[in-house]
Amino acid sequence: MTTTEAPLLRVRNLRKHYTSPKRWLQPAKPAIQAVDGVSFSVARGETLSLVGESGCGKTTTAKSVMRLVEPTSGSVELEGQELLSLSPEDMRQRRRDLQIIFQDPYASLNPRLTAGDIVAEPMRNFGNFGGSAAAERRERVQWLFSRVGLRPEAAKKYPHEFSGGQRQRLGIARALALNPKLIVCDEPVSALDVSVQAQVVNLLMDLQAEFGIAYLFVAHDLAVVRHISHRVAVMYLGHIVEIADRDTLFSKPLHPYTEILLSAVPVPNPRTPARRLLLQGDPPSPANPPSGCRFHTRCPMAQAVCKEKVPELSERASSSQGGHWVACHFR
Ligand code: SF4
Repeated sequence: MTTTEAPLLRVRNLRKHYTSPKRWLQPAKPAIQAVDGVSFSVARGETLSLVGESGCGKTTTAKSVMRLVEPTSGSVELEGQELLSLSPEDMRQRRRDLQIIFQDPYASLNPRLTAGDIVAEPMRNFGNFGGSAAAERRERVQWLFSRVGLRPEAAKKYPHEFSGGQRQRLGIARALALNPKLIVCDEPVSALDVSVQAQVVNLLMDLQAEFGIAYLFVAHDLAVVRHISHRVAVMYLGHIVEIADRDTLFSKPLHPYTEILLSAVPVPNPRTPARRLLLQGDPPSPANPPSGCRFHTRCPMAQAVCKEKVPELSERASSSQGGHWVACHFR
């Protein structure tokens, strides 16, 4: 994974604004700016994590990349091909390379299908993976089951017969079925018991090492993010406020919001005093975001200019992994 080669995924100025229909005799409601001008890239075999508090736009960004929600504007290129201008059928074909693992493994599995049919479904839908013969599909399903740590005999069971961790393994096997290049992981372990989370995260890392898959990993658990990521992008109210490689971001965060977010991570050594910074106030509404820097209403360092001028996301230090980018007038 290097940043000298063309990125696998390049997202530029992505916006997703939700508007509500105008009602008779009522003033139009302002659009909810869930994602507002987000840009980033993901290299082959890389894990880029999107982090931030609930409502910051990380899941909407991930779903917009997949066109599971239709972006308002911007550009999403996969291997140089613009996805937002593809017809529905062309986009469907492109989804072979672009799969998703959902947060709730149970809700994302069809309860009427056996586990084997669930994993075989993408192959059946696309018809020509490894031949369309049922025997070949069965063989690949068995291989996928064993690769994600499920017994091949479990292919005959239904989703309700599995534990939460096993269901997420099933979701991973389904995502792997077509040999994708990028998997969007939307909080894939947050619904699981802590004891199972590490197993699933390690499985994702093993699969990445083996198949060179890139992950766009959405999470709020910073311990998980630290473990799995190569780079991390921090989002606040629809904007990316900081991007850096994992070690730099966790050891030398620059944006005040990132500092506050990271101070909430528990310190494993009881002799190391925890320096907890508290985030003041509630997040502003994305329908009426603050002027200038969107963080100025809660930022302990805010000054007059912060209310007036939007800070650009600009590079503060370069590195082999894409540099350290921050959006703050004073950092
Ligand atoms: Fe805080 Fe101002 Fe920097 Fe925004 S630009 S993070 S308000 S100091």
